[in-house]
Amino acid sequence: METHLPSDLLISLKSTKGFDQKDFIAAHQISNQITSVRFNPNKKFNIGDSALDVAEKIPWCNNGFYLHKRPSFTLDPFFHAGAYYVQEASSMFLEEVLKQTCQLDHSLKVLDLCAAPGGKSTLMQSLLSSDSFLVSNEVIKTRVNILNENITKWGAANIVVSNNDPKDFQRLPNYFDIIVVDAPCSGSGLFRKDPTAVTEWSPDNVMLCSQRQQRILADILPALKTNGVLIYSTCSYSMEENEEVVDWLIENHELEGINININDEWGITQTTSAKHKAPGYRFYPDKVKGEGFFISTFRKKNESDSYHTTKPKVISFEKISQTDLSNLKQWVNNEIPEIHFVKWKDDIIALPNSLLLESATLQNALYIKKMGINIGSMIRGELIPSHQLALSNILSPYIAWIEFDSAKALDYLRLNAISTENSQLGWHIVRFCGIFIGFIKILHNRINNYYPKEWRILHK
Ligand code: SAM
Repeated sequence: METHLPSDLLISLKSTKGFDQKDFIAAHQISNQITSVRFNPNKKFNIGDSALDVAEKIPWCNNGFYLHKRPSFTLDPFFHAGAYYVQEASSMFLEEVLKQTCQLDHSLKVLDLCAAPGGKSTLMQSLLSSDSFLVSNEVIKTRVNILNENITKWGAANIVVSNNDPKDFQRLPNYFDIIVVDAPCSGSGLFRKDPTAVTEWSPDNVMLCSQRQQRILADILPALKTNGVLIYSTCSYSMEENEEVVDWLIENHELEGINININDEWGITQTTSAKHKAPGYRFYPDKVKGEGFFISTFRKKNESDSYHTTKPKVISFEKISQTDLSNLKQWVNNEIPEIHFVKWKDDIIALPNSLLLESATLQNALYIKKMGINIGSMIRGELIPSHQLALSNILSPYIAWIEFDSAKALDYLRLNAISTENSQLGWHIVRFCGIFIGFIKILHNRINNYYPKEWRILHK
């Protein structure tokens, strides 16, 4: 579809480095969309079994690939299993930024402040060491569900999902090694994907977004450690939301901009902010194979420690009985080191060491929606396993399983009636081409489907 760009936007971009009006307009008139996915390194599958027609690799992201055409993701069981995430290629550049600016093999505390629907969070989780953890936060309540769903599908235990305002993180002063602020913005960078966004664009909205971005950044900066890394990004082309915010950050906070080395062939434009000459990286759709994006990275300089840390109240989890513990151990992969089981809100959750150590601090400060992997609930010594366990990396490889073909897997995901020749009663994990998609329980007279109702496929 041809996109009619707002003339005020084109005028405002005239003096922006890398902006080439003719080519930029032409790039918005191309009808075929670019589609890209990022594979989950913990859920390996044979691409030939999926709906994906994979083209070349995205140069700045190890697991990122362009597709020749956009399939129906909804009808691909691998999509529902979290075997890959559909993500716009430019935003995967975050991987290159993290690799160049952070020691990813260290044990790190990482915050993704504006996280829904979870693209940057799932990308970061794949890059972090197993003794690091990520807090994936979304302030808008109605958007936390989709974030939770995508994080659950990704299957990693070292993630916390929270639902907090940026200001709330001031309860965690000097806490995070890395903070990513993928800020809400005027969205001009996504005009090709969402032409209706054009009608919502206005210079006034750009100004409002810029002010909100500054507010969010000012609120969150106390939570960043000295020497910690702040990554700021938008999907807007406007200087007011990009280089001007960069200058505002440097002017008002103890931050220094960090250079990222880029390969000329990638087509990314390096800009410098007007006042402080701090670097930023622009993605124009006529120059890169991707949508509009801006990213800039900073290190927090030594500053006098003006924030005081309060010692957290110790929250002790309710103990799990030895019998329950040995019952649930058959459900998890005991080769994964340093996983602890605790009772939280009536359920049993699995926490890696790094999260267990910080759980009291995080619970004191934040409104937590998900922490580690929910294993399920123990009822009279029997575990009713949760869907989080089914999709997680910690499920035991020895659980009884049933392999479904594509038609049956889709019936399962639609919550349609399913049948099986398998006569063994009890819990089974359903697999599609070796990838786990959920639990069923085979009873004498029926099969109970434990796929979450709210996630079922509605599409025919
Ligand atoms: N990082 C996400 C990803 O890669 O999937 C996309 C984030 S989107 C660009 C910006 C997010 O910021 C939205 O989920 C939005 O709900 C959230 N947001 C809106 N207002 C906010 C505010 N005042 N403070 C923090 N986040 C906000």
